[in-house]
Amino acid sequence: MGKSRRKFLKQLVGVSSAAGLSGTGVLSHAAVSKAKIQDIRLSNNRGYVRLVFDLDQSVQHSIFSLHGPERVVLDLKNTDIPAGMIDMIQASSLIRGIRSGIQNGHDLRVVFDLHEKMSPRSFLLAPSGDAGHRLVLDLYDAETNNESVVEKAKAKKELRDVIIAIDAGHGGKDPGAIGRNGTKEKTITLQIAKKLEKVINGQRGMKAILTRSDDRFLHLRERIAKARKNDADMMISLHADSFPDPRARGSSVFALSVDGASSEMARLLADKENSADMLFGDISLAVDDQMVKEVLFDLSLTGTVQSSLDIGDEVLKQIGSVNRVHKKKVQQAGFAVLKAPNIPSVLLETAFLSNPREEKNLRSSAHQQKIAKAIGRGVSSYFQRKAPPGTWLSEAVTEYKVKPGDNLSVIAEKFNTSVNDLRSRNALQSNNLDAGQVLKIPVS
Ligand SMILES: [Zn+2]
Repeated sequence: MGKSRRKFLKQLVGVSSAAGLSGTGVLSHAAVSKAKIQDIRLSNNRGYVRLVFDLDQSVQHSIFSLHGPERVVLDLKNTDIPAGMIDMIQASSLIRGIRSGIQNGHDLRVVFDLHEKMSPRSFLLAPSGDAGHRLVLDLYDAETNNESVVEKAKAKKELRDVIIAIDAGHGGKDPGAIGRNGTKEKTITLQIAKKLEKVINGQRGMKAILTRSDDRFLHLRERIAKARKNDADMMISLHADSFPDPRARGSSVFALSVDGASSEMARLLADKENSADMLFGDISLAVDDQMVKEVLFDLSLTGTVQSSLDIGDEVLKQIGSVNRVHKKKVQQAGFAVLKAPNIPSVLLETAFLSNPREEKNLRSSAHQQKIAKAIGRGVSSYFQRKAPPGTWLSEAVTEYKVKPGDNLSVIAEKFNTSVNDLRSRNALQSNNLDAGQVLKIPVS
């Protein structure tokens, strides 16, 4: 593939230089108005590939698909591309090859050869911050791209909120753990859930939904169904631990990946006790909480995604400022990965109801508020970095190319943000920057 692409490019270079020689008469006019592609960036995301074309001016463009073999064609009116630029784009597991050619003497055509059918979506972004005109092309794989996703995006031109499903553990006939002073887990989780709902709804670009807003019993499956029905981008399940030894204390976070009911799950759940033992034998779950086991069990069937761990990590970091953290790392089991699209989820064991001091804390409205705020910060810092396409948060980001002599605090000040935010948004391990490096910057 590499070879034929190179050959194609050589032909292309030949064509364009020939056109330049013979068309000197119109060259000056063309040179003034022609758009130029300055850079192309490709990123692989869950379910789609995003290509960003940096341009020196706005362009007219169109996209269409061709089948047998599967291709997506992008036409850019009156546009130039530097020789060799297409060749520089990293390969992607979803794209077999990329070629370009000149149409009508001045239009650019870019052809994406695909392994399988993908649905394209494109939009233009006006200059913002240090970023100039951009054309964004998203190629969705067939599995992710069920009609509803695309239709919804089309129907709703405005950007949607990131949806956070908040699941208050237990409820109704199931009180969950009970503290020494009679505090019920189901009450605590609902109180924190409602506080968290307010925290989330107070953040621009995010919206919370509750799986339950009163004291009622819900099966795990109903909780998941509710999250799915609301197109949740993530789910956080709130619990409070209990352990025979009253000294046990601290918070822990589990990364989950929730999927709807599977018949396999039903079959395996019938043998719950055995399976749960087998599954959780290697993680120290200091709980005897049937629901937690069920949620974790579901996870074991659907498989975790990196995003669950990632979200869990952010939440854990923030919770650490409020309560002692029981386990320094997000817990996970050895999961079998299934292909089903799923909702990244985390389960938070806020603290131990069986520990008198923590029980007292959990009953305190002020402490509950601290927990809610910490979760809110963790969730927000994740979605600032990894907002799904089509959301306000995903668009509320611009890019900045680091100049020689720049440093993080100068850039943070310039864009009215913080060094920590820049580090987390760009997954930077240190404060060192290289000139030319591109940073994601929040739009304030
Ligand atoms: Zn629980």
